[in-house]
Order: sequence, then C-alpha cells, then structure tokens
Amino acid sequence: MPEASSAADEPAYGRGLPLDPDPAQAEALLTRASTLVAALFDGVGDRPVAGTPTDPAFVAGLLADRPGEAQPIEAALATLMEAIAQGHESRTGGHLAYIPGSGLLTAAIGELLASAGNRYTGLHAPSPGAVALEVGVLRWLCELFGMPEGAQAVLLSGGSMANLTALVAARERHAPGRPQLATVYVGEQAHASVRKAARTIGILPEHVRVCPSGDGLRLDVETVRVMVKQDRADGLVPTAIVAAAGTTNFGAVDCLGRLADLAADLGVWLHVDGAYGGFFRLTERGRARLAGIERADSITLDPHKSLFLPFGTGAVVVRDRRALVDAFGEEADYLRDLPDADQLPDLAELTPELTREWRGAKLWLPLKLHGLAPFVEALDADLDLAAWAHDELAAMPGVTTCGPPDLSIVGFRVPGDDAAQDAALAHLNAEGRVRLSSTHLDGRVVLRLAVLSHRTRRHHVQYVLDRLRDWLERPTTGTT
Ligand SMILES: *Cc1c(COP(=O)(O)O)cnc(C)c1O
Repeated sequence: MPEASSAADEPAYGRGLPLDPDPAQAEALLTRASTLVAALFDGVGDRPVAGTPTDPAFVAGLLADRPGEAQPIEAALATLMEAIAQGHESRTGGHLAYIPGSGLLTAAIGELLASAGNRYTGLHAPSPGAVALEVGVLRWLCELFGMPEGAQAVLLSGGSMANLTALVAARERHAPGRPQLATVYVGEQAHASVRKAARTIGILPEHVRVCPSGDGLRLDVETVRVMVKQDRADGLVPTAIVAAAGTTNFGAVDCLGRLADLAADLGVWLHVDGAYGGFFRLTERGRARLAGIERADSITLDPHKSLFLPFGTGAVVVRDRRALVDAFGEEADYLRDLPDADQLPDLAELTPELTREWRGAKLWLPLKLHGLAPFVEALDADLDLAAWAHDELAAMPGVTTCGPPDLSIVGFRVPGDDAAQDAALAHLNAEGRVRLSSTHLDGRVVLRLAVLSHRTRRHHVQYVLDRLRDWLERPTTGTT
C-alpha cells in the first residue's frame, strides 16, 4: 500500500492537474502510475487470496465521497490502491473458486493505450487502423474455431453479452417478430446468463426448456429432440439449443457433434457457450474434447476467463455474419450484401452497441508480445493440474468426485452431509492462501476446484490436497 507522501516529496506536478497535463506532467504521472502497476503484479501469483480485510470506515468514506476540490495526487492514488486491495486477490494462483480471472499486465497496457488514443471503432471509416487491428484478431477467432468464410466474431463486455447477442441472432433467424413463441433448450448446468439473456430479449422464462439428463452434467441429445418436436407440435417455435463447451459448475462439455447433427436435423440454431472453456481449443486435448464446436452457429468466448485478460472482454463468433447484420444492422438494405474481402465492417452494425470501447487492442497486444505459446502452455498446465487433483481426490478415502474433469474444474464431496461439505470448504479456505467454492448437484452441495489461472502452480493444488487430508483425518471425522 503506497503511503500518502509528505509535502516534501509531493511530486512536481502537484495538486490540481489541468484536464490536459503538459508532457512533463503527463510523464511524471505515468511514471508514478507505472510504479504502482508494477507493484500490483510483483509476486502476484503467490499472494494469498485473502486480500486486505474490508475496512468499514474506508467503505463508508467512499460512499460519502463526492467530487469537489482537487486532491493531492498521492492521496487520490493511495485511495484507489486501497480500494483495489480490499477483498479477495482474484489474480493469484490460489484463486480456485468460481471461474478464476487472472489479468495480464500487457492487456492493461493495451487498454491504457487504446483509451489514450480514444479511437471511434463503431464505424470503420473514422478509424480504419484501429478497426483493422481488431478485425485481424476477430478473424483469428473465427479461424481458431474452424468457421467458414463469411463468419464474423465481435468483442463485447463479457460472456453474458455474448450469449445475449447470439440469442438475438438466433431469434431473428428462427422466430422474427414472434419472441413470445420462441423456445430455447438448455442443460441443467447452463449458465444463468442464458436465462437472463432469453428473458431480456423477450423469450418467456417458461420457454427456456431445461433438459434433464442422465448424469445431470451434460445435455441429453435425445431429450432435446423429443422436447423440440413436442414444442413444434404445440405451435411453438424452437429457436436455439444452447450447449456448453465447459459448464461453469464442473467444466462439463456437451456432446457438441451430436448436438450439431440434431440442430441441423431439426433446423434450429446451435449456440455453444464456451465462456469458460472455449479457449482450451488452443490445446491439443481441448481441441479433441471440444470436437464439434466448429459446427456451431455461434460460440461465446470470454478472453477475460480462459485467455487471462482483465475483466471486460467477451466475444461471440457467428458462423454467418448476415445473422448479426439482420439482428443489429440499422441500414440492412445496404449492409445485406457481403462486403468485399478487404472492406472493413462497421462493428456497430453487428452488436447492440454503437460507441464502444476499442477492445481489440487489449486482446491484440498480449498476443503480440507473448506469442501464442505461453497461452497454450498455461491452458495445458491447467488441464494437467485439474487431472492430477482429480486423481488425488478420488484416491482419498470417502471422497467422491463428479468424474475426471472434461477440462479444468473438479467437483468432489467429502464424506458426510451438506454441512460436512461446508465445513470442509471452510477449512480449505480458512488460512486465506487458496479459495475454493461450492455449488449444487442434484440438490446436494458439491465442492469445486477450478483451475483457470496461468498463475496456478502445483504447490497451490498440493496445498489444497494436504489440507483436505488433514481435515479428513481430524479426530471428529464422521460425526458431522
Ligand atoms: C462466466 C460465464 C458466463 C458469463 O460470462 P460473463 O463474462 O461473466 O458475463 C456465461 N457462460 C459461462 C459458461 C460462464 O462460465
């Protein structure tokens, strides 16, 4: 935590910066900020998950805070840094809860430069360079997922907006003007954002069909078929099957190839939610496990999950860009024709947004500065760690798992009832070195270990395993 400096070392730029600092002031400020940023990343992988405890007085001060007089720069920066410090350190390798988001310095720099340049990227004409840089990344995404010519990716704020954007495209394709008749098919483990998206775009909550499945983890293809046919017979308009390329709860991958066959057979849209798992496609094992994803009509991706970017970057890849133009283009007549290969798109015609953050920069810069290999290696390492953790857990007496992980999330239960699960979880998290979370499966509490940070190392997982063994061997085992 930087301390507010005394008046003596208050930097030369002093208090009350003009809206446009002169170059010397700008540099002094950036130098100070760069020191803070470097400190934010120093040793971050091994920090405890438990950050600074929340200070109620600090929170109350922020809530009462109003803009007015200019503050001394050091004091303002110190407040900002303290706000960052309070709560969990989500960037550390010990973050094994929910879906970890790790963050990259190089993406933060890309974001700073993009924001400093403040280019308008809703349309291509004012900023052809910025739009081209982003479109290069978008084409890579389309190619990575085996999409044909005519596919289109767009960057959004996250997976929720990506799911929403895809569902609008599906609705406009299959149920234009009739959202109240549209039905969508999801697995029991589908992410809540799918329901939220459906509701937001006028699909009735009761028309989001939750398909029960044998193992509770993966969509049952034949159940979906029966439900679609029944709904059609009842005069409804089956619109989209939403499959998971890695569920949030357990990382389970649906049978994407068979669902693609089914969707083609029934004439409905196949959306694959790969917000958590999509980028495992970069690895050999992930490519095999996500086989069939290349046949989807649309795919949600979250670079702020499995590409380690800071929060605020999601993506959707759509097989046929005309579906996006039909859904979001406001000059549809003019835009219906596919553009020339080298014509840049107007991104505002492809999503709900008009003015938008230039997200391409923070995705492009890390890919350039690191190359692809470290991303692939990190994802491979996550797969290894999760597989190892699973085998170790499965070998512990009384511990049951949800099966070998499809990707990098392991679900497990210790002996005993739900209260025992909560107690074990509390024990694992008690020292603040790691953080795991829990969920429900078939109405029972299940613990989960989610490896998705490029900073998670073997020793983090080893710590979890050792601590769980301690807990299992404690004198009171079995009495909870
Ligand atoms: C995280 C997640 C989402 C939502 O993405 P946000 O980026 O949080 O909006 C959707 N689907 C799945 C499978 C997820 O894991």
